[in-house]
This record gives sequence, C-alpha cells and structure tokens, in this order.
Amino acid sequence: MNTPLLHVTEHGLYCEAGGFHIDPTRHVERALITHAHADHARPGSRSYLAPPTGAVILRARYGQHLKVQPLPFGEQLNLNGVTVSFHPAGHILGSAQIRVEHRGEVWVVSGDYKTERDAACEAFEPVPCHTFITESTFALPVFKWQPQAEIFSEINSWWLANQSAGRTSVVFAYALGKAQRVLAGVDASIGPIFLHPDARTYLAAYQAARVPLPEAPGATPENVAAARGRALVIAPRSVTRTPWLEKFAPFTTAFASGWMHPDSPMKRPGTDAGFALSDHADWDGILATIRATGAERVLATHGFTGQLVRWLKLNGWDAAELPSQPEPRDKKQMELFA
Ligand SMILES: [Zn+2]
Ligand SMILES: [Zn+2]
Repeated sequence: MNTPLLHVTEHGLYCEAGGFHIDPTRHVERALITHAHADHARPGSRSYLAPPTGAVILRARYGQHLKVQPLPFGEQLNLNGVTVSFHPAGHILGSAQIRVEHRGEVWVVSGDYKTERDAACEAFEPVPCHTFITESTFALPVFKWQPQAEIFSEINSWWLANQSAGRTSVVFAYALGKAQRVLAGVDASIGPIFLHPDARTYLAAYQAARVPLPEAPGATPENVAAARGRALVIAPRSVTRTPWLEKFAPFTTAFASGWMHPDSPMKRPGTDAGFALSDHADWDGILATIRATGAERVLATHGFTGQLVRWLKLNGWDAAELPSQPEPRDKKQMELFA
C-alpha cells in the first residue's frame, strides 16, 4: 500500500513526499504551522513556514530569533514536488488551513477554524479537497453559537450592570486570539479597558495587521482603582485567585469561551458569569464546511472525533479518526484555547 500523502508519526502529522511536518509535536527540520496556539506551534524546530500575520505572532510568542519564512495566503510553494499553500481559518489572527497537493491529490488540514466572520482576524474560506482533516473541538449537535453581536451586547450589558454596582468587570479570555477579539468587540465607550500583560504581548501584531482595537493599557492596581469600578479587565483565566487579580477587588468575573454554552457537557469554571464566545466552528459550522470542501474523505482530530465520525459515516462519508497525536498536556489546557 502507498504511504498516504499525510500521516501521523511520533513527531506529528508528516508529509513524506514533501519532507515536512504540520504543527509538529517535537523538533523537526521543517514545520508548517496552522497557528501560534501552544497546542499547534512549539519552539525548537529548524525552520518554520506560516502566513505573514501568523509569522509575526510566532516570533512575538517564541522570540525574534525563530526562523520563520512567511508565505502569503493563497500563494503556492513547491516543497520537493509537493505544492503547499495557506488559506485563512478564521480562528485567530494569522491562523491557516494548509492545502497540500501531490500528483493531483489534494488534502486540506483545517487547524482550528471558525466560520463566523470576526473583526480581529482574516475571514475563513472553505478550500476544495479530496481529503479534509477537520478539528472537532465542538463537534456535538448541542453546540450552536449565538451570533457574536448578541454575545457582545450581553457582555456590554453585564459590564454596565457591574459599573452600577461599583465593581470592576474581569473577563477571562485566552491571551492570544480571544483577548484581542473581546477587545475589538466590546463597546469601548462604556469605560476604560485594561489588559493582562500576556495579552498585550500580541497587540503589536494585531496593530500591524490593522485590526481596529481601542486603547488598552496594561492593568495595574493603580489604574483599576482610579477607574472606581468602571473598568473592564481582560485577562487569561490562569490569574484566578492570584495576588495579581485580588488587587483589583471588588470585581466580578466572567469566562468568554465556547465551553460556557448552556448545554456544554464540560464542567463550568468558577466564574460569576459566562459568555459562549468561541473561536471554533460549532456543529453546523463544521458540517457546512465539510460539505463546502467537497471532500469525499474526512479525518477528524482534536475533540469530539468519535461523534463526528459516526455521524459522517451514517450520512455517506468515508470518515475516520486521525490516529491519535500526542494529546495536549491535559484537557484543562485544551479548554483554554476554545
Ligand atoms: Zn487554536
Ligand atoms: Zn487547537
């Protein structure tokens, strides 16, 4: 039997014909990166290929010395006779699906993706292919997102209500992607917005990509106190019960994540409120994407793979779970990227 165009090795997803890995889990010669979240991009490989906006974020995350070659969205590159290109995944700024073509056979690796357009990243585009490797983070029929305009108006109302009570509003959002999306989406006329330093690490990359963001200085006990309960603080959930956060008392917390969906089977974190704002496709978004690619074969990875594969097989697709890649260190960590 021929080696498939892409297969999982102990270093992650590998293209033998092209001599490259996609989102490798260990150090490799040449790494093609879908996006800069830590469960997809790791330092230590000899060379990296990423879309230009993704390359800037990779360097902001892992250091300016990282050897990253930018490849603009839609542009093709030949690697040992295999044609590769990046296409927007709509997940975070610079996130890509990776198209791999060899002798007329086309595979697309989705990385993480979101079908709803958002102001903080490039818009998702379905890419025609024979085999589609799809993420499945929220691949259960219960996951159906509200339009983000509704979610942002809920966040704005919650912020206003906290202001009336004289309490600072703290939104937990992953430092790369979600934090900037929340910043771009809330109504900045309500009050001052302050950011955790981890989220500020990526601001220059967003500004360079001309994502319109309101002013958001670093959160300090002084500027939060001076705002007397009117401020919105955006910080990663890892600050829960840390001295950094406790200095902002009195405050109210909320978590912005797809896991906050009312029918989510995952345990809720201990926040006062939750907003189901996800950077991943919901069930309908995943199915619509699979149809739009025209793929006859679907390989599911990352999340509720079994449920998605079962549904696809019942509905006429050739589908399978991608043989397991090393899991992120723990499921908790996975939640943070959602
Ligand atoms: Zn991600
Ligand atoms: Zn991911």
